[in-house]
Amino acid sequence: MKLIYERSQAGRRASVIPRPAGLPAPEIPDDLRRAEPPRLPEVPEFELVRHFTELSTRNFGVDTGFYPLGSCTMKYNPRINERLVTLPGFAHLHPHQEEDGAQGALELEWRLQEILKEVTGLDAVSLQPAAGSQGELTGLMLIRAYFADRREGEQRRKVVIPDTAHGTNPASVTMAGYELTDVKTDARGNIDVDDLRAKVDEHTAALMLTNPSTLGLFDENIEEIERIFHGAGALMYYDGANLNAVCGISRPGDMGFDVVHINLHKTFSQPHGGGGPGGGPIAVRKILEPFLPAPAVVRKKDGAFALDHDRPKSIGKVRGFTGPFGVFVRSYAYMRMYGPRLREMSEAAVLNANYVLARLKGAYDLPFDRLCMHEFVLSARNLKRDHGATATDVAKRLMDYGFHPPTIYFPLIVPEALMIEPTETETKETLDAFCDAMLAIAREAADDVEILKSAPHHRPVRRLDEVRAAKNPVVKHAFETAPVA
Ligand SMILES: *Cc1c(COP(=O)(O)O)cnc(C)c1O
Repeated sequence: MKLIYERSQAGRRASVIPRPAGLPAPEIPDDLRRAEPPRLPEVPEFELVRHFTELSTRNFGVDTGFYPLGSCTMKYNPRINERLVTLPGFAHLHPHQEEDGAQGALELEWRLQEILKEVTGLDAVSLQPAAGSQGELTGLMLIRAYFADRREGEQRRKVVIPDTAHGTNPASVTMAGYELTDVKTDARGNIDVDDLRAKVDEHTAALMLTNPSTLGLFDENIEEIERIFHGAGALMYYDGANLNAVCGISRPGDMGFDVVHINLHKTFSQPHGGGGPGGGPIAVRKILEPFLPAPAVVRKKDGAFALDHDRPKSIGKVRGFTGPFGVFVRSYAYMRMYGPRLREMSEAAVLNANYVLARLKGAYDLPFDRLCMHEFVLSARNLKRDHGATATDVAKRLMDYGFHPPTIYFPLIVPEALMIEPTETETKETLDAFCDAMLAIAREAADDVEILKSAPHHRPVRRLDEVRAAKNPVVKHAFETAPVA
């Protein structure tokens, strides 16, 4: 396929801007003028449409097939969300609109905050952070502000995270100026409580925990862990990326957590991937509320909705205005579609994951053999040991069967990890087709491992040299791709 620049012919245009006689030439200040005109592709409109339409067919998305990318919750995004977010009252609202002209939008934000309080079992919410990772940083900044306010800021320098943590956790800890303390995972996939006990003291600021963990396992000792941290005067941060497993069933606030981020784009449906858009609101216990980013969306005594900037102890803004508004509309629509039946979402997600796990666990190694939550982690180490096929080979071969690969090589503590999250939105037929493909691949590894090693065979792009692509990215030149088989 040609690049758009290679289709370019001088003088071709998709549209012509009329130059009515009598209009003055636009005055562009000299220092803003380019010496040379920018190099733009010159193509007629139909070539433009064909080019991008063809490109779009080479993409794989949740609208084209099953996408069990563990930890990412790639559920189907109902079209009603898109319809609502483009309602003119939402889409055309200016962020500087006065409050009395933006009551509907403020009410939506306020209602979303109320739902998130109920879902998390906590007292106050800020919608500002634009991603889970930004929610993490914001939450840790709140924890810092809280301890500084109590004059324990100098003393409490350490944040504990388990070795199964998502990479954003240690990054956020470092960005927030804290030191990292690693804690091990035990043989059942829980935090190793003995290891933990030795590492929590008066210098500990907080725990950061994903529960269920990235192994898809609910920590069986969460109450004991809570006693250890709160007993040492430290706080508890809940990475809510896996909320899809427990929504309406158990609440981080009831488990003892003091700060939670919610990945709206994961749990509450949002077209995501490739960098956005997302939403990472945080919910906190009362003691942390004074430090939340300003402004807060509030309902006044007379029932009107308003922005409250009066937060003298606030850590300040972490994003423009009140946050990514379009994301709020979609997630709110999604929540209201379920209404009080929201827990059915999580129940179906957990059921689907356990069904797929039960079908696959004979063919692939299962490092932690327990009932899983909304996702689970297999290991391809048996295929590697017996036939030389790696997790990468399995993932690449799955693409030939028409499925997006699962997350691989994460969490780091599982060798040759295959992390599978089917989500609640798939039919049994789709889950079965995926299981059939995974089982067929395990057989292929035994019969003819070369098929796996050279996969994918039937996609627009064959196996890439990923190390070279990462170390030496060439994003401008023409490239050749294999013909679609
Ligand atoms: C996705 C994820 C994050 C980060 O969230 P982003 O919205 O991608 O920044 C953090 N922790 C876990 C467990 C995740 O799955």
